[in-house]
Amino acid sequence: MSKLTIRGGSAVRKKYVYFFDEGNAEMRDLLGGKGANLCEMTRIGLPVPPGFVISTEACIHYFENGKKFPEELWDQVMAALARVESETGKKFGDEERPLLVSVRSGAKVSMPGMMDTVLNLGLNDETVETLSRIAGNQRFAYDCYRRFMQMFGNVVMEVKKDLFEHALSDLKDKKGYKYDTELTPVDLRELVDTFKGIVKKESGQEFPSQPLKQLEMAIRAVFESWYNPRAITYRKINEIPETLGTAVNVQTMVFGNMGENSGTGVAFTRDPSTGEKKLYGEYLLNAQGEDVVAGIRTPQPLEKLKDELLEAYDKLAGIMDTLEQHYEDMQDLEFTIEEGKLYMLQTRVGKRTAAAALKIAVDMVEEGLIDKKTAVMRIDPSQLDQLLHPCIDPNADFQVLTKGLNASPGAAMGKVVFHADTAEEMGKAGEMVILVRWETTPDDIHGLVQSQGILTSHGGMTSHAAVVARGMGKPCVCGAEEVKIDYASKSCRVKDVVIREGDIITIDGTTGRVILGEVPLIPPMINEDFRRLLAWADEIRKLGVRANADTPEDAARSRDFEAEGIGLCRTEHMFMAEDRLPHVQAAILAKTDEERAEPLQKLLKMQKEDFAAILKAMNGLPVTIRLLDPPLHEFLPNLGDLRVEVAELKHRGASLEELAAKEELLANVRTLSEANPMLGLRGCRLGITRPDIYQMQVRAIFEAACDVVEEGYEPVVEVMIPLVGIDKELALLKESTEKVIHQVFEERGIRIGYKIGTMIELPRAALTADEIAKHAEFFSFGTNDLTQTTFGFSRDDAEGKFIPEYVELGILEKNPFEVLDTEGVGKLIDMAVKLSRQVRPDIKLGVCGEHGGEPKSIKFCHQVGLTYVSCSPFRVPLARLAAAQAVVEEEREVFIDK
Ligand code: ADP
Ligand code: MG
Ligand code: MG
Repeated sequence: MSKLTIRGGSAVRKKYVYFFDEGNAEMRDLLGGKGANLCEMTRIGLPVPPGFVISTEACIHYFENGKKFPEELWDQVMAALARVESETGKKFGDEERPLLVSVRSGAKVSMPGMMDTVLNLGLNDETVETLSRIAGNQRFAYDCYRRFMQMFGNVVMEVKKDLFEHALSDLKDKKGYKYDTELTPVDLRELVDTFKGIVKKESGQEFPSQPLKQLEMAIRAVFESWYNPRAITYRKINEIPETLGTAVNVQTMVFGNMGENSGTGVAFTRDPSTGEKKLYGEYLLNAQGEDVVAGIRTPQPLEKLKDELLEAYDKLAGIMDTLEQHYEDMQDLEFTIEEGKLYMLQTRVGKRTAAAALKIAVDMVEEGLIDKKTAVMRIDPSQLDQLLHPCIDPNADFQVLTKGLNASPGAAMGKVVFHADTAEEMGKAGEMVILVRWETTPDDIHGLVQSQGILTSHGGMTSHAAVVARGMGKPCVCGAEEVKIDYASKSCRVKDVVIREGDIITIDGTTGRVILGEVPLIPPMINEDFRRLLAWADEIRKLGVRANADTPEDAARSRDFEAEGIGLCRTEHMFMAEDRLPHVQAAILAKTDEERAEPLQKLLKMQKEDFAAILKAMNGLPVTIRLLDPPLHEFLPNLGDLRVEVAELKHRGASLEELAAKEELLANVRTLSEANPMLGLRGCRLGITRPDIYQMQVRAIFEAACDVVEEGYEPVVEVMIPLVGIDKELALLKESTEKVIHQVFEERGIRIGYKIGTMIELPRAALTADEIAKHAEFFSFGTNDLTQTTFGFSRDDAEGKFIPEYVELGILEKNPFEVLDTEGVGKLIDMAVKLSRQVRPDIKLGVCGEHGGEPKSIKFCHQVGLTYVSCSPFRVPLARLAAAQAVVEEEREVFIDK
């Protein structure tokens, strides 16, 4: 960006003030969004009231120099003002034709909390009379004056808004008026005097009557507003740098309040909620500035303007078309009509709903306005959730009770229940329920299935409830620590609100909000536009997208969302079903291989059916099946519960036999219990020390594969061994796995291709990836565990206990379980990618942690050159889009570098 510097004498004079014809839309950094676009509209010949922009550099200078204007500034303002005066034929404080201006703030990004606009600046006791005379309208002039005093008094002189409002309503009451419009010129004059008194009393200063003094104070106030608390907070939340500064726009006033052939309004070039191509907006006749949004009078739909002021309407329609063609995007604009003549006061890219974003992007490609890549870039991947799940009606009115983690998107409403059994019972009876638990465990699955949504007061983004809910596509809010549950009384307390079983709540898993009572929801919408845009994303992206799916239903859903395979099929979820758990427990508790053989045989049969169904559903596409991973205690009864049961049996005087059995179980469970189960006997460690469990699973997989081959299907199996940290672990298990596979092939007389690979989820595995790759045909980065083990953060506790505070304090930028930590965990991934490709250039590399469904993390996966990401089925569309955006961003960066 070129900064014009004017050399005068020996000093270099910097340019701080830009007339509207000296800037353009690209100059947002320097002129702010509003200013840059006012310049752009002026440049392309649209009717913009003349004015100028004071640059953000002046604002930055102001703060860097003890709140002093740059030396050159005032001269430049005066010069620009002189030009405004000559273009309009009006003059500040003039007795014949007084100039009035608006002073408007405008940072690079639009920021609520910045200084409000001051309109009608330049009015005083004299100019108001002149204005009244030339407009032939005393009421209008005094209405402008009292508005100016109100705005200036509030935003520049920091007098509370209420005081003005009260004075206004007191006067109306006194006179018995209902509307502002009933105020007579005499009333308004009285009001102006009252306002002067208020300002004097509150600020200790006279209301300034000098237009230049007013202007200087207003400019200073805009600068100052950059550091007002609301603006600071807003910047923090939205990651907007403090160093940007704000620009100040000074613009000739045009009057929408000059009578019934004047008016003011806002408009969108397309419907921002549906995306439909039509003029959309609202206006009010005989009104100024914020009247339209202030809700004092009800604005009219833009269509009606056609009947009231046809010429201005036609002009506006033409300009809206021009603006869209020019900016190649939907615009949100402000206009004012002064005695039939249209003026443009603002334009910017319009905010829109996800549905509208999609429709607009697709339509604009159709219309030849943008190309497919641009269309793909126009959609925010995280917005897609809005389309896949029901969401809370943005127009609804409600109060948020508390917030938790936004663990699984979508909104759900239902009666609160605290037990999985109750959820199942009521759910089956056709009731809508929300299961509220401290945390869920695999024991609660039957309740989760029947619930509309899940709320937990503990656990993070990778807690059981979160993972299962995402897999099922059900809304879930996790770790809402303010929800204090009392299972005994079937109630919970949030601050001072008590919620009992059967009370209705609404949860919003997209934002983490928990709301008491019912809120209107908008149903999901996957339509033709959605499919087309994703098809374009598929043409662009290089990263493959698979789904994490454990059941035939999930597998089918993955195919619906066009996943290119299953990247993670967890076998343990199959172990949790009610009819299986006893066999699983028997197998775990068995003392000898012989004792274990029978329950394993039973499980073999069941697992075989599961695998066959999944392989059929994914026919022709790869399915990565992970051998048993979680710590064994997850399948066993809880130690504490068992202790209580034994005590109860004793107390009740149960038979010796019964007691002995229970005590033996207790002893067994105690032996198996570990201090740190997540770092204990699990994954491949189990596979090595209890080989028959993995052997059973491998047999089940390949017998199933042979079965489906015989039925004419084409299974593509990848066996994945979890938690490898030492290459020998994998070498050993690979050998035993292949032995079983060949046995099965031998027995069945069938041969099918397969791959054996491993998870990389321990730092040591990443560090020695070259050694491990010798035995692995693929790696899948288990980024949940890798994050846990790299940071030494416990997944189950960290997110509830201290990560939010870490983020708040800026120690962590983001929760690393949500957004991949590219600096640490990412470095390990990058290293493992490079090391493994050295020994095995064609190794397939994927990610199957929760990060596989998070846009920023997906872009990182693309950058380090992974083969695919795998995520829960509902995230597949998002991943396809994010992967395409990664490609386009890369191309555009290269382009900029050149
Ligand atoms: P915001 O950023 O809050 O929208 P604006 O600076 O756009 O603030 O101004 C607020 C209102 O004042 C808008 O309705 C705008 O159209 C109106 N306005 C601003 N400048 C002028 C002007 N020079 N003449 C008439 N109306 C104006
Ligand atoms: Mg505006
Ligand atoms: Mg793991």
